[in-house]
Amino acid sequence: MSDKKTASENINTDAFVGATMGAQKSQTGKKEKNVLGSSQTDPNKILPITYKWAREYYKQGVSNNWSPEEVSMQRDIELWKSKDGLTEDERRMVLWNLGFFSTAESLTANNIVLTIYKHVTNPECRQYLLRQAFEEAIHTDTFIYCCDSLSLNPDEIYNMYLTIPSIEDKDRFVVNITQSLMDPNFRITDEKSIQKFVNDLVGYYIVMEGIFFYAGFAMMLSMLRNNKMVGVGEQFQYILRDESVHLAFGVDLINTIKEENPGIWTPEFQKELTETIQKAVEFEKKYAEDSIPRGILGLRPDVVSQYVEHIADRRLESIGLKPQYNAKNPFPWMSEVIDLSKEKNFFESRVTEYQQGGSLGW
Ligand code: FE
Ligand code: MN
Repeated sequence: MSDKKTASENINTDAFVGATMGAQKSQTGKKEKNVLGSSQTDPNKILPITYKWAREYYKQGVSNNWSPEEVSMQRDIELWKSKDGLTEDERRMVLWNLGFFSTAESLTANNIVLTIYKHVTNPECRQYLLRQAFEEAIHTDTFIYCCDSLSLNPDEIYNMYLTIPSIEDKDRFVVNITQSLMDPNFRITDEKSIQKFVNDLVGYYIVMEGIFFYAGFAMMLSMLRNNKMVGVGEQFQYILRDESVHLAFGVDLINTIKEENPGIWTPEFQKELTETIQKAVEFEKKYAEDSIPRGILGLRPDVVSQYVEHIADRRLESIGLKPQYNAKNPFPWMSEVIDLSKEKNFFESRVTEYQQGGSLGW
């Protein structure tokens, strides 16, 4: 998906200056389209495109369009209300995941709108961020829809990030990683501040969307595979499809900033990021143990933990860090879910319609 060539063709010889002094350089018509460092408020010239990958992710997001109301919840409602359709442990797992995701989605939306958009000044990247923000709104809406359909108590679900320690730990971890960017005085002025920004991007994209969502995805999609809570399961499938594009964009964004500012990628910084990811893995394992303490549907907490380790290695590699776990993938079907869902079922006809609409001649 990523157009590495386009990204690398635009590496500056004095990339560091290019990233930090883009606003001044742009007066000469040069270097105004780096990822970082242009004016935060000037009108943006999106053409010609510098980063083709950002444009591609935008188009992919549009062709993946969906909304939660299109998925029927009838079978879920019947199963949820039936006395013995689900075990207590299955209910706990569903509630834990609805609890985590219901607030995690808006936390992600806040991060994009309040911090990433401000500092990533490249127009085609910003165009994608707007699309991503919309998708996070769709995801937030999905959990409203699930709560309403199942008649769950919103005070219980939307407070789980405060009342369930393993959920609170994950949210606090992401908030802490990314807190200094919320400082209105934060500016990208030197390598230290670029490192801080990349550290936060790793928090948003690699940790939150790339690790903290994945034990939940594996658990909820196991339910779907066992033909239970199929409506919620299908919603999670569409969210997973969107999240895999968000993550891919985040990886290209981080790698492009690295390429344009090679000075930031010191051994100390790499060690720091690797340790952050390792800590996140521990929180995610604790979350899995807490969600399915006795195991359900052939899922055991230790196997979900192995999956989290496998995923974390892929995330580390994606941004040029060394894998730490060498764990085999216990759920090869998960990657099939991600790939297959692109061509899946009744949404396909709508996607095709959009694409035909887009190619109509005038
Ligand atoms: Fe999301
Ligand atoms: Mn997302």
